[in-house]
Amino acid sequence: GLFPLRVPKTKTSFAVGDIFIFLLLLLYGPFAAVVAATAEAAACAWRTSTRLTSRIAGPAAAAVAMLLCGQFFVVMQSTLVRWGLAYESAIYAATLVFALAYFVVSPTLVTTVIYLKRWRAPSLREWLTTFGWLGMGYLASASIATILHLAFRQFGPMSVVVAVPMIGMFVASLRVYFSQQEAAEREAAERASIERADNAERESRTASAHLKDLELSERRFQSAFAHAAIGMALVSPDGRLVQVNAALCAMLGLASAELLARPLVKIVDTEQAEELAQMLSLLRSGAADRARRDMRCQHAFGHEVWASMHCSTFAPDGATEPLLILQAFDITAQRQAEGRLQHLAYHDVLTGLANRSKLLEALQRALHAHQADPARLFSVLHLSFDRFKQLSDSFGRGVGDRFLVAVALRIQSLMRPGDLLARLEGDDFAILAQHGSEGTQPSIALAERVHRAFAAPVLVDEIESHTNASIGIRCVESEPASADSMLRDADLAMSKARADGRGRHALYDPKLHQRASDQLMLESDLRRALAEQQIHMAFQPVFSIEPHRIAGFEALARWQHPVRGAVSPADFIPVAEQSGLITQLTYAALTQACAQLQAWRSRLPAAAELFVNVNIAGQDLCEAGFADFVRDILARHALPARCLTLEITETALMQQLELGSRTLARLRDLGVGLSVDDFGTGYSSLSHLSKLPINSLKIDRSFIDKLDGVSMESEIVRAVIQLGQALGKRVVAEGIETPGQLAQLRKLDCGYAQGFLLARPLSVAQVDAMLPEALAVQTLVEQHASWCDDPSTAEQTADDSALCRIGHAAQLAKRPGGLA
Ligand code: C2E
Ligand code: CA
Ligand code: CA
Repeated sequence: GLFPLRVPKTKTSFAVGDIFIFLLLLLYGPFAAVVAATAEAAACAWRTSTRLTSRIAGPAAAAVAMLLCGQFFVVMQSTLVRWGLAYESAIYAATLVFALAYFVVSPTLVTTVIYLKRWRAPSLREWLTTFGWLGMGYLASASIATILHLAFRQFGPMSVVVAVPMIGMFVASLRVYFSQQEAAEREAAERASIERADNAERESRTASAHLKDLELSERRFQSAFAHAAIGMALVSPDGRLVQVNAALCAMLGLASAELLARPLVKIVDTEQAEELAQMLSLLRSGAADRARRDMRCQHAFGHEVWASMHCSTFAPDGATEPLLILQAFDITAQRQAEGRLQHLAYHDVLTGLANRSKLLEALQRALHAHQADPARLFSVLHLSFDRFKQLSDSFGRGVGDRFLVAVALRIQSLMRPGDLLARLEGDDFAILAQHGSEGTQPSIALAERVHRAFAAPVLVDEIESHTNASIGIRCVESEPASADSMLRDADLAMSKARADGRGRHALYDPKLHQRASDQLMLESDLRRALAEQQIHMAFQPVFSIEPHRIAGFEALARWQHPVRGAVSPADFIPVAEQSGLITQLTYAALTQACAQLQAWRSRLPAAAELFVNVNIAGQDLCEAGFADFVRDILARHALPARCLTLEITETALMQQLELGSRTLARLRDLGVGLSVDDFGTGYSSLSHLSKLPINSLKIDRSFIDKLDGVSMESEIVRAVIQLGQALGKRVVAEGIETPGQLAQLRKLDCGYAQGFLLARPLSVAQVDAMLPEALAVQTLVEQHASWCDDPSTAEQTADDSALCRIGHAAQLAKRPGGLA
């Protein structure tokens, strides 16, 4: 018991003493064994426990167990011998059974006390793992004791003396081995414990270092956050501002307390709040861990601030929920620069209006909207103003520019909200007019408003400019189109409106394209016709009414086209004016008319007083070399200037007052007459009439048409005649078709008459054929008319048949409206 063998890695130990106790049992019976077992248990208890109960209970249990099992052994051995088993076999069997019984009883007694103290039943598995080794030890000890006992019986006590050192050596070497094992085990355990301790220390060191790092990084973050040059904020997942830095406060002009009081979406413009809210929910949902948007905010002082907002999720240590970190870069300057560039790209610098690009984009959008919903109608109005070019040519660009600005302002005041006004170029403007489902009517109404608004002159630098717009209207519903083609169509309609006369509007009509290409064809044909001298002059006689005689001719251009046949001046003159060919045509007309008049004058002395009227266009007055050309042509044909009168329509004359003034003055100096054609259809102020070098007014046919003595037109004709007389100007009535009209004119004391009633425009050959006789007859009529006044002279001439006819004709001619 003093030298137990503890099995390494187990709690079990056994003592070699058991061998000798069992040997005593075999040699001297149970009582010797009980004493030995009790002594052994006492030694063992003394060694392992200090408690008295353990020191008593251990030996007591050993004594009881040995007493019981020893008696059981004795009975068993004698029974087996009695059953006829050999002594050695009976001893061995009985010893083994005893060992098992002792193994069961001895620990059971010891553990019962322990389990009684803990008050729970032991489990078999627990019992076996704790005491299994003991059983094996008992069995081994019992076997050895049996062998020793048998050796003792056979060889006497010497065998035991020999066995004891053997056993001693065996036990000693086992003990040494076990203790070595145990030492290695202890060492390993110690190492493990040292390692554990080391680990624990290292862990605690890293934990504290980590804590320090965290503190440091938190401090760094806080300092970076507070002093950052860009605006920063921490935002809670529900969008509240949790922390803001000074830069963000400065950017928005708010104190941090004011900022912290509001949700993030409240710092951006209301229109963008929705977009920002979407961005936040995107981050919240985890669909993205960062997002960026450019947002417009309002500074506390009222101006706008643009911020590029970067938002990302941010999970600080110790936070229960992730925050959002917002970085706001101030991009206002960049935005403003972009805005200025954008503005430049889309606006006209002079008027600040939209330019063509912007208009086209808006048109494109309107077209898309119309495609999506055909009830969303709109139209494009192309407005072209007259006067701009002349104004800037004569008064400088500054005046022209200010004129355009004034025009733009006036148009803008007429537009409805939602309409877009753009300046295309020069004096060309366009309006994109939205009119919902109302059709074309609003556009026409707008065009009419523009016409009415420009009835009053535009005042620039104290220069009164009478201008008006020719307006082409292209409605979206008339034909599917692209933005570009709509603008082109409006332009085409505008050309039509301009061709119709000043201050008009025209709706686009697909036929206009045909017309435009026809015009182009006509233009190229006209160019060739002028080069090949296909244009000839017709001469329509102009008569003086009282005395009734041929006073001159109006030269009228005639074009016999090889394929088209006769082309009316009403068709080709506008083409010539638009294409710039008009000057060439005027030169041709002047050349032919002067040459022709000279030819008649040289052939017929009575033709010396005849004049020729040549139609000119407004553009001719602006031609620098025009007056020189007129002078040269007169000189070339040795014609006195009084024989030539230039006819210009009232409208054209009024348009060219400023620009044409120099040419007009030079023409007056030359002594060339100027006639205002179509008088009454334009507007000319009396002051102009009296100041201009005009020597003739030609009353427009539209007045003569309605000449009945009572109509308003009759009154106008009367007024014009009186005005002409008062100003000392020749008054010509044109387009006389009925004798009634002629009679009225005679009654009103109109000086000159022209019209189909009196003579149609005649070819040169026709004039050549009639002119000698007409002049001769005219002289005779004049003479005869005075005879006719005296009835006696009439009788004298009665037998002269030729003279008679003339006299008769003269009498007829003296009747109202008469020409015979
Ligand atoms: P206009 O200068 O008013 O010329 C008079 C027009 O009236 C001529 O038409 C003439 O044939 C027509 N006419 C004359 N008497 C009567 C009448 O009793 N009844 C009717 N219904 N018509 C009458 P035309 O020759 O067709 O010329 C038309 C216009 O073309 C002219 O109007 C003039 O503005 C222009 N034009 C003609 N030749 C020339 C030209 O050589 N140069 C320029 N610049 N324009 C010209
Ligand atoms: Ca004329
Ligand atoms: Ca006329």
